[in-house]
Amino acid sequence: MAADCRKSAGEGGMIYLDYQATTPVAPQVAEAMRPWNEEYFANPHSPSRSGREAEAAIEVARRHVEEAIGLKGGSVAFTGSATEALNWALKGTVEKGPPGRKRIITVATEHAAVLDTCEWLAGQGIDLTILPVDREGRVDLDGLERELDDRVLLVAVMMVNNEIGVTEPITEIANMAHEHGALMLCDAVQALGRVEICKGPDLVAVSAHKIHGPKGIGALWMKKGSEPAPFIHGGGQEMGLRSGTLSPALCVGFGAAAQLADERMNRDYDHVQKLWAAAVKALGPGWTINGSTVHRYQGNLNIRRQGVDAARLLGDLRDIAFSLGSACASGSGRPSHVLRALGLDYREARSSVRLGFGRYTKQHELVEACRRIAAAAQAQETLHA
Ligand code: PLP
Repeated sequence: MAADCRKSAGEGGMIYLDYQATTPVAPQVAEAMRPWNEEYFANPHSPSRSGREAEAAIEVARRHVEEAIGLKGGSVAFTGSATEALNWALKGTVEKGPPGRKRIITVATEHAAVLDTCEWLAGQGIDLTILPVDREGRVDLDGLERELDDRVLLVAVMMVNNEIGVTEPITEIANMAHEHGALMLCDAVQALGRVEICKGPDLVAVSAHKIHGPKGIGALWMKKGSEPAPFIHGGGQEMGLRSGTLSPALCVGFGAAAQLADERMNRDYDHVQKLWAAAVKALGPGWTINGSTVHRYQGNLNIRRQGVDAARLLGDLRDIAFSLGSACASGSGRPSHVLRALGLDYREARSSVRLGFGRYTKQHELVEACRRIAAAAQAQETLHA
């Protein structure tokens, strides 16, 4: 429903506070994509002049995505989503791995795109270790060190958690993995364009729609020499690793979004910090922040309040788009695996909501939303008192 997801509340509109689920498309991105949707239709892999023009536009976009990722010595392959990039990274690395390395280590708070793929690989004979996190949502590095040995093929850890915003020390983790001859995969979907991507990983998955780009396109950055085995077979596009005709419009949109995010990162970051402070103040007392308040991206405010039924809160405030955690967790009715991993009990997890804000969030809208959320939570308490 278009009216549900307008960029700003405006008169009678929706206040959009679900920036981890997706972000509004930047006007500059829509404009960059427009001719590729409306005027040009050449196959970018055709040798015709228009085909070569489309290919050139894709290559410019690829450079922008690579620059936004900011890591050296590798290249980007476009995929249909970050979910695909993560599936490819995990399955393709296993396929190519040496016979003696059959272990994958990941973390309990990873996105389902990593956890479910790892579980599937475990069903195929991979020895899977899922590390716990502490009460703050951070992985225990001593625990990781104890698990690492020369049978580990890959360590997969996300940089910014999508549900609680907590950051992990990716460079340290990558160094530890490398010391044991393992590769490191980083899900940087919630990090790209918001914070600088940490150096060290061999594989990095990103997604356009989390940085004000279009849906339906992601990318896998691969350090030279660490490329996974080919994932989709066919015409040999994307260095023979991921076949299928690329969409110039989606690639150009991703490139424009990446360029813009790169240029605006500091400005967006400052804005987000101000929004965080305003939101915490407007919510008032009685709320606990889930996850570390130090090691975090502040555009993600995951909070709980004793006795609150968060699902009812969402129902009571239908003109505010916020969520129970990940979009997937919100739909399933199951309490979030991330909050459970933090050690929250069932009730605490059920009384948690996530507010996500960013570039286009207006402070007065966020403050209004937080005040209404706090009032609705208080009304629930009064009802049950
Ligand atoms: N990883 C994280 C941390 C995410 O937040 C998401 C999206 O919710 C994904 C992976 C999957 O991204 P995509 O929607 O491009 O498949």
